Amino acid sequence: MADKSFTLLGIETSCDETAASVVRGAAPGPGEILSNIVFSQTEAHAPYGGVVPEIASRAHLEIVDGVIEQALSQAKVTLADMDGIAVTAGPGLIGGVMVGLTTAKALALGARKPLIAVNHLMGHAMTARLTHGVEFPFLLLLVSGGHCQLVGVDGPEDFRLYGSTIDDAVGEAFDKTAKILGLPYPGGPAVEEAARRGSPRAHDLPRPLKGRAGADFSFSGLKTAVRQLVQDHHASAEDVSASFQAAVIDILRDRTRIAMQMFRRDFPQGSTLVVAGGVAANQAIGEALAKLCGEEDFTLRVPPPRLCTDNAAMIAWAGVERLSAGSGGDDLAISPRARWPLANVPHS
Ligand code: AMP
Ligand code: MG
Repeated sequence: MADKSFTLLGIETSCDETAASVVRGAAPGPGEILSNIVFSQTEAHAPYGGVVPEIASRAHLEIVDGVIEQALSQAKVTLADMDGIAVTAGPGLIGGVMVGLTTAKALALGARKPLIAVNHLMGHAMTARLTHGVEFPFLLLLVSGGHCQLVGVDGPEDFRLYGSTIDDAVGEAFDKTAKILGLPYPGGPAVEEAARRGSPRAHDLPRPLKGRAGADFSFSGLKTAVRQLVQDHHASAEDVSASFQAAVIDILRDRTRIAMQMFRRDFPQGSTLVVAGGVAANQAIGEALAKLCGEEDFTLRVPPPRLCTDNAAMIAWAGVERLSAGSGGDDLAISPRARWPLANVPHS
Protein backbone atom coordinates (compact mmCIF):
# COMPACT_ATOMS: atom_id res chain seq x y z
CA MET A 1 0.00 0.00 0.00
CA ALA A 2 1.25 3.48 -0.86
CA ASP A 3 2.08 5.61 2.18
CA LYS A 4 1.50 8.98 0.53
CA SER A 5 -1.99 10.31 0.09
CA PHE A 6 -2.90 12.62 -2.79
CA THR A 7 -5.53 15.34 -3.03
CA LEU A 8 -6.89 16.04 -6.50
CA LEU A 9 -9.40 18.26 -8.20
CA GLY A 10 -11.37 16.34 -10.84
CA ILE A 11 -13.29 17.88 -13.75
CA GLU A 12 -15.82 16.06 -15.97
CA THR A 13 -17.58 17.56 -19.02
CA SER A 14 -17.68 14.73 -21.57
CA CYS A 15 -21.45 14.36 -21.89
CA ASP A 16 -24.36 16.16 -20.24
CA GLU A 17 -23.04 16.52 -16.69
CA THR A 18 -20.81 19.42 -15.69
CA ALA A 19 -19.00 18.11 -12.63
CA ALA A 20 -16.12 18.92 -10.30
CA SER A 21 -14.91 17.12 -7.20
CA VAL A 22 -12.09 17.00 -4.68
CA VAL A 23 -10.92 13.55 -3.63
CA ARG A 24 -8.14 12.47 -1.26
CA GLY A 25 -6.46 9.09 -0.97
CA ALA A 26 -4.05 6.57 -2.39
CA ALA A 27 -4.40 3.37 -4.39
CA PRO A 28 -5.93 0.85 -3.84
CA GLY A 29 -8.45 2.96 -1.88
CA PRO A 30 -10.95 3.48 -0.49
CA GLY A 31 -10.58 7.24 -0.85
CA GLU A 32 -12.27 10.21 0.75
CA ILE A 33 -14.65 12.38 -1.29
CA LEU A 34 -14.30 15.94 0.05
CA SER A 35 -16.81 17.35 -2.44
CA ASN A 36 -18.74 16.03 -5.43
CA ILE A 37 -20.65 18.66 -7.42
CA VAL A 38 -22.69 17.42 -10.39
CA PHE A 39 -24.73 19.82 -12.47
CA SER A 40 -26.92 17.75 -14.76
CA GLN A 41 -28.16 19.35 -17.99
CA THR A 42 -31.09 16.91 -18.23
CA GLU A 43 -33.67 19.69 -18.43
CA ALA A 44 -31.91 21.43 -21.33
CA HIS A 45 -31.92 18.21 -23.40
CA ALA A 46 -35.28 16.79 -22.32
CA PRO A 47 -37.31 18.47 -25.12
CA TYR A 48 -35.12 16.63 -27.68
CA GLY A 49 -35.27 13.21 -26.00
CA GLY A 50 -31.49 12.93 -26.02
CA VAL A 51 -28.26 14.88 -25.55
CA VAL A 52 -27.73 17.68 -28.12
CA PRO A 53 -23.94 18.24 -28.43
CA GLU A 54 -24.18 21.97 -29.25
CA ILE A 55 -26.39 22.69 -26.26
CA ALA A 56 -24.14 20.57 -24.05
CA SER A 57 -20.87 22.35 -24.85
CA ARG A 58 -22.44 25.79 -24.45
CA ALA A 59 -23.88 24.81 -21.06
CA HIS A 60 -20.53 23.38 -19.90
CA LEU A 61 -18.80 26.61 -20.88
CA GLU A 62 -21.30 28.71 -18.96
CA ILE A 63 -21.11 26.88 -15.66
CA VAL A 64 -17.84 24.95 -15.41
CA ASP A 65 -15.98 27.71 -13.52
CA GLY A 66 -18.76 28.03 -10.95
CA VAL A 67 -18.95 24.26 -10.48
CA ILE A 68 -15.18 24.09 -9.85
CA GLU A 69 -15.33 26.97 -7.37
CA GLN A 70 -18.14 25.21 -5.54
CA ALA A 71 -16.20 21.93 -5.38
CA LEU A 72 -13.13 23.66 -3.92
CA SER A 73 -15.06 25.73 -1.39
CA GLN A 74 -17.20 22.81 -0.24
CA ALA A 75 -14.02 20.76 0.28
CA LYS A 76 -12.50 23.77 2.13
CA VAL A 77 -9.37 23.69 -0.02
CA THR A 78 -7.70 25.90 -2.61
CA LEU A 79 -5.91 25.01 -5.82
CA ALA A 80 -2.61 25.41 -3.95
CA ASP A 81 -3.55 22.40 -1.77
CA MET A 82 -3.95 20.11 -4.80
CA ASP A 83 -1.42 17.49 -5.86
CA GLY A 84 -2.80 17.65 -9.37
CA ILE A 85 -5.73 18.48 -11.59
CA ALA A 86 -7.44 15.52 -13.24
CA VAL A 87 -9.77 16.03 -16.17
CA THR A 88 -11.67 13.89 -18.66
CA ALA A 89 -9.77 14.11 -21.98
CA GLY A 90 -12.12 11.68 -23.76
CA PRO A 91 -13.97 9.74 -24.97
CA GLY A 92 -17.09 11.87 -25.27
CA LEU A 93 -18.72 14.76 -27.09
CA ILE A 94 -15.70 16.66 -28.36
CA GLY A 95 -17.04 20.17 -27.63
CA GLY A 96 -17.69 19.31 -24.00
CA VAL A 97 -14.38 17.51 -23.53
CA MET A 98 -12.63 20.56 -24.98
CA VAL A 99 -14.27 22.88 -22.43
CA GLY A 100 -13.16 20.74 -19.46
CA LEU A 101 -9.67 20.07 -20.78
CA THR A 102 -8.96 23.71 -21.67
CA THR A 103 -10.19 24.84 -18.24
CA ALA A 104 -8.02 22.23 -16.50
CA LYS A 105 -4.97 23.22 -18.53
CA ALA A 106 -5.41 26.86 -17.55
CA LEU A 107 -5.77 25.95 -13.86
CA ALA A 108 -2.78 23.58 -13.95
CA LEU A 109 -0.62 26.18 -15.65
CA GLY A 110 -1.70 29.00 -13.32
CA ALA A 111 -1.30 26.96 -10.13
CA ARG A 112 1.79 25.05 -11.38
CA LYS A 113 0.19 21.67 -10.76
CA PRO A 114 0.44 18.47 -12.80
CA LEU A 115 -2.35 17.93 -15.32
CA ILE A 116 -3.70 14.39 -15.42
CA ALA A 117 -5.65 13.66 -18.60
CA VAL A 118 -8.10 10.90 -17.72
CA ASN A 119 -9.90 8.41 -19.93
CA HIS A 120 -13.55 8.73 -18.83
CA LEU A 121 -13.98 4.94 -19.03
CA MET A 122 -10.98 4.45 -16.74
CA GLY A 123 -12.77 6.72 -14.26
CA HIS A 124 -15.81 4.44 -14.29
CA ALA A 125 -13.54 1.39 -14.07
CA MET A 126 -11.68 2.62 -10.95
CA THR A 127 -14.74 3.84 -9.00
CA ALA A 128 -15.12 0.60 -7.02
CA ARG A 129 -11.59 1.16 -5.69
CA LEU A 130 -12.54 4.68 -4.56
CA THR A 131 -15.64 3.34 -2.78
CA HIS A 132 -14.63 -0.19 -1.71
CA GLY A 133 -10.85 -0.46 -2.20
CA VAL A 134 -11.46 -3.38 -4.61
CA GLU A 135 -8.15 -5.10 -5.43
CA PHE A 136 -7.00 -5.98 -8.95
CA PRO A 137 -7.86 -8.03 -10.91
CA PHE A 138 -11.63 -7.60 -11.30
CA LEU A 139 -14.17 -8.00 -14.06
CA LEU A 140 -15.95 -4.78 -15.02
CA LEU A 141 -19.40 -4.56 -16.58
CA LEU A 142 -19.72 -0.99 -17.80
CA VAL A 143 -23.32 -0.15 -18.71
CA SER A 144 -24.08 3.48 -19.47
CA GLY A 145 -25.76 5.77 -21.97
CA GLY A 146 -22.79 5.61 -24.32
CA HIS A 147 -21.01 2.37 -23.46
CA CYS A 148 -21.65 -1.30 -22.90
CA GLN A 149 -18.62 -3.48 -22.32
CA LEU A 150 -17.09 -6.28 -20.29
CA VAL A 151 -13.48 -5.67 -19.35
CA GLY A 152 -10.88 -7.48 -17.27
CA VAL A 153 -9.05 -4.88 -15.15
CA ASP A 154 -5.61 -5.74 -13.77
CA GLY A 155 -4.18 -2.28 -13.10
CA PRO A 156 -5.00 1.41 -13.62
CA GLU A 157 -3.93 1.08 -17.23
CA ASP A 158 -4.25 -2.65 -17.79
CA PHE A 159 -7.52 -3.57 -19.50
CA ARG A 160 -8.61 -6.63 -21.48
CA LEU A 161 -11.71 -6.26 -23.56
CA TYR A 162 -13.90 -9.39 -23.42
CA GLY A 163 -16.94 -7.96 -25.12
CA SER A 164 -18.61 -4.74 -26.17
CA THR A 165 -21.73 -3.66 -28.00
CA ILE A 166 -21.71 -3.95 -31.76
CA ASP A 167 -24.46 -1.33 -32.07
CA ASP A 168 -26.32 0.53 -29.29
CA ALA A 169 -25.29 0.96 -25.66
CA VAL A 170 -27.68 -0.49 -23.12
CA GLY A 171 -28.60 2.92 -21.63
CA GLU A 172 -29.32 4.12 -25.15
CA ALA A 173 -31.69 1.15 -25.60
CA PHE A 174 -33.51 2.20 -22.41
CA ASP A 175 -33.68 5.82 -23.62
CA LYS A 176 -34.97 4.87 -27.08
CA THR A 177 -37.54 2.48 -25.66
CA ALA A 178 -38.79 5.27 -23.40
CA LYS A 179 -39.04 7.61 -26.38
CA ILE A 180 -41.03 5.05 -28.40
CA LEU A 181 -43.37 4.58 -25.44
CA GLY A 182 -43.73 8.33 -24.84
CA LEU A 183 -42.12 8.08 -21.40
CA PRO A 184 -40.07 11.00 -20.03
CA TYR A 185 -36.33 11.49 -20.60
CA PRO A 186 -33.94 10.12 -19.33
CA GLY A 187 -35.58 6.85 -20.16
CA GLY A 188 -33.85 4.39 -17.84
CA PRO A 189 -35.58 5.32 -14.59
CA ALA A 190 -38.94 5.81 -16.40
CA VAL A 191 -38.79 2.37 -18.05
CA GLU A 192 -37.78 0.72 -14.78
CA GLU A 193 -40.69 2.42 -13.00
CA ALA A 194 -43.22 1.39 -15.69
CA ALA A 195 -41.81 -2.16 -15.72
CA ARG A 196 -42.76 -2.58 -12.04
CA ARG A 197 -46.43 -2.46 -13.04
CA GLY A 198 -46.17 -4.68 -16.13
CA SER A 199 -45.64 -8.35 -16.94
CA PRO A 200 -42.19 -9.43 -18.16
CA ARG A 201 -43.89 -12.30 -20.03
CA ALA A 202 -46.46 -10.15 -21.85
CA HIS A 203 -44.36 -9.93 -25.05
CA ASP A 204 -41.72 -12.25 -26.43
CA LEU A 205 -38.91 -9.88 -27.47
CA PRO A 206 -35.62 -10.94 -29.13
CA ARG A 207 -32.38 -11.45 -27.21
CA PRO A 208 -29.73 -10.65 -29.88
CA LEU A 209 -26.44 -12.61 -29.60
CA LYS A 210 -27.69 -14.61 -26.60
CA GLY A 211 -26.06 -18.04 -26.58
CA ARG A 212 -23.42 -17.01 -29.13
CA ALA A 213 -19.70 -17.46 -28.49
CA GLY A 214 -17.86 -14.44 -27.10
CA ALA A 215 -19.23 -11.72 -24.86
CA ASP A 216 -20.33 -9.04 -27.32
CA PHE A 217 -23.67 -7.28 -26.99
CA SER A 218 -26.29 -6.12 -29.47
CA PHE A 219 -29.39 -4.10 -28.65
CA SER A 220 -30.55 -2.58 -31.91
CA GLY A 221 -32.73 -5.59 -32.87
CA LEU A 222 -34.42 -5.37 -29.51
CA LYS A 223 -35.15 -1.68 -29.99
CA THR A 224 -36.58 -2.36 -33.48
CA ALA A 225 -38.80 -5.12 -32.06
CA VAL A 226 -40.09 -2.71 -29.41
CA ARG A 227 -40.93 -0.14 -32.12
CA GLN A 228 -42.75 -2.78 -34.20
CA LEU A 229 -44.66 -4.01 -31.20
CA VAL A 230 -45.83 -0.53 -30.25
CA GLN A 231 -46.76 0.35 -33.85
CA ASP A 232 -48.64 -2.85 -34.65
CA HIS A 233 -50.41 -3.57 -31.38
CA HIS A 234 -51.84 -1.40 -28.68
CA ALA A 235 -49.49 -2.80 -26.10
CA SER A 236 -49.38 -1.07 -22.72
CA ALA A 237 -46.24 0.89 -21.79
CA GLU A 238 -46.04 -1.13 -18.57
CA ASP A 239 -46.03 -4.52 -20.31
CA VAL A 240 -43.63 -3.38 -23.05
CA SER A 241 -41.27 -1.90 -20.43
CA ALA A 242 -41.35 -5.07 -18.32
CA SER A 243 -40.79 -7.33 -21.37
CA PHE A 244 -38.00 -5.06 -22.65
CA GLN A 245 -36.25 -5.00 -19.28
CA ALA A 246 -36.56 -8.79 -19.00
CA ALA A 247 -34.87 -9.15 -22.39
CA VAL A 248 -32.06 -6.76 -21.37
CA ILE A 249 -31.52 -8.70 -18.14
CA ASP A 250 -31.37 -11.98 -20.06
CA ILE A 251 -28.76 -10.54 -22.45
CA LEU A 252 -26.63 -9.01 -19.67
CA ARG A 253 -26.74 -12.24 -17.66
CA ASP A 254 -25.77 -14.43 -20.63
CA ARG A 255 -22.93 -12.18 -21.82
CA THR A 256 -21.56 -11.57 -18.31
CA ARG A 257 -21.53 -15.30 -17.55
CA ILE A 258 -19.36 -15.92 -20.61
CA ALA A 259 -17.05 -13.01 -19.72
CA MET A 260 -16.70 -14.49 -16.22
CA GLN A 261 -15.36 -17.67 -17.78
CA MET A 262 -12.92 -15.71 -19.99
CA PHE A 263 -11.81 -13.66 -16.98
CA ARG A 264 -11.31 -16.79 -14.84
CA ARG A 265 -9.08 -18.29 -17.53
CA ASP A 266 -6.89 -15.16 -17.47
CA PHE A 267 -7.06 -14.60 -13.72
CA PRO A 268 -7.82 -17.79 -11.77
CA GLN A 269 -7.47 -15.82 -8.52
CA GLY A 270 -9.97 -13.09 -9.51
CA SER A 271 -13.55 -13.28 -8.27
CA THR A 272 -15.02 -9.75 -8.19
CA LEU A 273 -17.58 -8.33 -10.60
CA VAL A 274 -17.78 -4.54 -10.59
CA VAL A 275 -20.75 -2.86 -12.26
CA ALA A 276 -20.49 0.80 -13.27
CA GLY A 277 -22.33 3.33 -15.42
CA GLY A 278 -25.80 4.84 -15.11
CA VAL A 279 -27.66 1.61 -15.89
CA ALA A 280 -26.12 0.08 -12.73
CA ALA A 281 -28.76 2.11 -10.87
CA ASN A 282 -31.42 -0.30 -12.20
CA GLN A 283 -32.60 -2.44 -9.29
CA ALA A 284 -33.88 -5.39 -11.32
CA ILE A 285 -30.57 -5.59 -13.21
CA GLY A 286 -28.69 -5.39 -9.91
CA GLU A 287 -30.73 -8.26 -8.45
CA ALA A 288 -30.16 -10.44 -11.53
CA LEU A 289 -26.40 -9.80 -11.41
CA ALA A 290 -26.29 -10.55 -7.68
CA LYS A 291 -27.93 -13.91 -8.40
CA LEU A 292 -25.49 -14.59 -11.24
CA CYS A 293 -22.55 -13.80 -8.93
CA GLY A 294 -23.93 -16.26 -6.38
CA GLU A 295 -24.12 -18.98 -9.04
CA GLU A 296 -20.63 -18.28 -10.43
CA ASP A 297 -18.89 -17.66 -7.09
CA PHE A 298 -18.16 -13.98 -7.72
CA THR A 299 -18.47 -11.05 -5.31
CA LEU A 300 -20.59 -8.19 -6.68
CA ARG A 301 -19.52 -4.58 -6.10
CA VAL A 302 -21.76 -1.77 -7.28
CA PRO A 303 -20.81 1.81 -6.36
CA PRO A 304 -23.74 3.97 -5.15
CA PRO A 305 -25.86 5.46 -8.01
CA ARG A 306 -24.43 9.00 -7.70
CA LEU A 307 -20.96 7.53 -8.38
CA CYS A 308 -22.23 5.20 -11.14
CA THR A 309 -23.56 8.00 -13.33
CA ASP A 310 -21.17 10.59 -14.71
CA ASN A 311 -19.35 12.49 -11.97
CA ALA A 312 -15.97 14.08 -11.30
CA ALA A 313 -15.08 12.13 -8.14
CA MET A 314 -14.24 9.16 -10.35
CA ILE A 315 -12.05 11.41 -12.51
CA ALA A 316 -10.21 12.83 -9.49
CA TRP A 317 -9.78 9.26 -8.21
CA ALA A 318 -8.39 8.12 -11.58
CA GLY A 319 -5.83 10.90 -11.08
CA VAL A 320 -5.04 9.52 -7.61
CA GLU A 321 -4.47 6.11 -9.21
CA ARG A 322 -2.10 7.61 -11.78
CA LEU A 323 -0.09 9.56 -9.15
CA SER A 324 -0.03 6.52 -6.84
CA ALA A 325 1.47 4.54 -9.73
CA GLY A 326 4.27 7.11 -10.01
CA SER A 327 3.00 9.20 -12.93
CA GLY A 328 4.15 12.81 -13.04
CA GLY A 329 1.21 14.00 -15.14
CA ASP A 330 0.64 14.73 -18.81
CA ASP A 331 1.97 17.29 -21.24
CA LEU A 332 -0.16 20.44 -21.47
CA ALA A 333 -0.20 19.98 -25.26
CA ILE A 334 -2.44 16.90 -24.94
CA SER A 335 -5.51 16.98 -27.22
CA PRO A 336 -9.13 16.04 -26.46
CA ARG A 337 -10.30 12.74 -27.95
CA ALA A 338 -13.83 11.95 -29.10
CA ARG A 339 -12.91 8.25 -29.29
CA TRP A 340 -10.53 6.61 -26.85
CA PRO A 341 -11.10 2.89 -26.28
CA LEU A 342 -9.90 1.45 -22.96
CA ALA A 343 -8.48 -1.61 -24.59
CA ASN A 344 -7.69 -1.58 -28.27
CA VAL A 345 -7.21 -5.25 -28.86
CA PRO A 346 -10.19 -7.53 -28.27
CA HIS A 347 -9.20 -10.44 -26.08
CA SER A 348 -10.56 -13.94 -26.55
P1 AMP B 1 -24.36 7.60 -17.82
O1 AMP B 1 -24.22 7.45 -19.30
O2 AMP B 1 -23.42 6.76 -17.01
O3 AMP B 1 -24.38 9.05 -17.37
O4 AMP B 1 -25.81 7.04 -17.44
C1 AMP B 1 -26.97 7.51 -18.07
C2 AMP B 1 -27.70 6.34 -18.68
O5 AMP B 1 -28.13 5.45 -17.66
C3 AMP B 1 -28.95 6.78 -19.45
O6 AMP B 1 -28.99 6.08 -20.68
C4 AMP B 1 -30.07 6.35 -18.51
O7 AMP B 1 -31.28 6.06 -19.19
C5 AMP B 1 -29.50 5.11 -17.87
N1 AMP B 1 -30.14 4.82 -16.58
C6 AMP B 1 -30.20 5.61 -15.49
N2 AMP B 1 -30.95 5.05 -14.52
C7 AMP B 1 -31.40 3.87 -15.02
C8 AMP B 1 -32.24 2.82 -14.53
N3 AMP B 1 -32.79 2.87 -13.31
N4 AMP B 1 -32.47 1.75 -15.35
C9 AMP B 1 -31.92 1.68 -16.58
N5 AMP B 1 -31.15 2.64 -17.10
C10 AMP B 1 -30.87 3.71 -16.34
MG1 MG C 1 -24.46 11.25 -18.50
